[in-house]
Amino acid sequence: MTKILKNYIGGQWCESAWSGLRDVINPATGKCLARVPEGSKKDIDNAAESAKEAWGTWRNTPATQRVQYLFKMKQILEKNSDEIAEICTGENGKTFAESKAELVRAIENIEVACGIPKLLQGDFSEDIATGIDEFYIRQPIGVGAAVCPFNFPVMIAFWFLPYALACGNTYIVKPSGKVPLSMTRIFELFEELDLPKGVLNLVHGGKATVDAILEHPFIRAISFVGSTSTAKYLYQTGSAHGKRVQALGGAKNPVIIMPDAEIDNTIRIITDSAYGCAGQRCLAAAVVLTVGKAGEIFTEKIVQASKAKITGNGMTKGVEIGPVITKESKERIEKLIQKGVDDGAKLLLDGRKIKVPGCEDGTFVGPTILADADTQSEIYLTEIFGPVIILNNVDTLEDALKLTNQNRYGNAASIFTTSGAAARKFRHDAEAGNIGINIGIAAPMAFFPFSGWKDSFFGDLHGQSFHAVEFYTQTKVVIERWHDEWTRKF
Ligand code: NAD
Repeated sequence: MTKILKNYIGGQWCESAWSGLRDVINPATGKCLARVPEGSKKDIDNAAESAKEAWGTWRNTPATQRVQYLFKMKQILEKNSDEIAEICTGENGKTFAESKAELVRAIENIEVACGIPKLLQGDFSEDIATGIDEFYIRQPIGVGAAVCPFNFPVMIAFWFLPYALACGNTYIVKPSGKVPLSMTRIFELFEELDLPKGVLNLVHGGKATVDAILEHPFIRAISFVGSTSTAKYLYQTGSAHGKRVQALGGAKNPVIIMPDAEIDNTIRIITDSAYGCAGQRCLAAAVVLTVGKAGEIFTEKIVQASKAKITGNGMTKGVEIGPVITKESKERIEKLIQKGVDDGAKLLLDGRKIKVPGCEDGTFVGPTILADADTQSEIYLTEIFGPVIILNNVDTLEDALKLTNQNRYGNAASIFTTSGAAARKFRHDAEAGNIGINIGIAAPMAFFPFSGWKDSFFGDLHGQSFHAVEFYTQTKVVIERWHDEWTRKF
């Protein structure tokens, strides 16, 4: 019988208050892995109440003790990394190596959050007036929640969760209904932590669940990652309900290749960037702009390297590109490719007809390259979220920068060059929050904020590092004087 997933609230596994279910499908095989609740307001009411109750004690637990749980969390994830990665590949489709890599990035955030006793420190000014001192302290804000996307079933909750807990908040995680299994298994493993009941809660669900998070008076801070339209909705609705919201949205990342770029590494890095996670990555190279002679040097080589990529089941050794997440997603990507051709782009490589033996029900799209797309066309402007490169040639670096900065998104932008001057100009002028110089995936380490701009981010403080600490705390300023000090009588 197919397993029905439960929520984890107040230290217990419990059924959702809503009976609606959706299938969780392995995109490589088409098999149903489990059924997940559609979720309801009642589930969030229960989780928020439980988290609020736990907060009273958790916020008064010294930071040095709170981090002991995080040390254990890291160990549990490391010890069980193969099992978690296999579940992640099963529900998401990405390769086993990619699943292992996202787990590493999750763990890095726990490691950074373990420095919270230092990160939480305030500041002190003595004698702001005679005998008067002023200082500020950071206090947790209460209950926080993360609403996660499908493309990183493990990592994304950890851009926020370790910091929220370390700062003294209690927390609710809402995974994507397409990939709820990895986080469910992680929560099962986390029972070993013996966290006080209600400190960490897991609630499955879709829109009704998210809307309840946005409205619940106990939930004070929300971290969201997903598509731009939903990010905007969450930011506006959550803010209107008086909450702190950081909402990370979609992307269409440009990558510029200068004629002087080192050839082999550039091609390897860019094709890995574009096709890794089947292109379902918010930092993927989506538009490759060759500058001047780089068009002649690189075009054919990129096509050849793309053709050599192996598409298949992410659990099969040697596979480099797994399936895309759903049938609807495959259809959408294929329609967009056709629209690109109809709008005049040249199809240099077509991944639509790919067949993976033994995985006839899988939702695969092979590497695809469309060249010379009209920069106002749908294929050029839309986030495709599949293994598709738009490959255009421009005359100068200024032209490439102009196109980069016309982009509605600003998640990431990269340049490949051996010229320090070109690299510096790009770094300085490109309107994106994560810049790569000879880097294909400009993913910040956990000790830097994940700095999307424009329609890739709504809010002020980003995920990870000191931004996450600021997001999950509120500052309290204290100005104090004591009678003897005031009068200076001893
Ligand atoms: P999505 O917006 O469809 O879903 C994200 C989450 O929001 C899910 O948990 C889902 O249940 C919930 N949701 C969906 N529609 C909703 C609605 N109308 N109201 C309330 N909640 C809703 O995103 P996805 O398809 O799961 O993820 C892919 C997107 O995420 C891409 O656009 C990608 O670029 C983006 N992404 C961005 C980053 C980043 O750092 N900027 C990182 C990863 C993914």
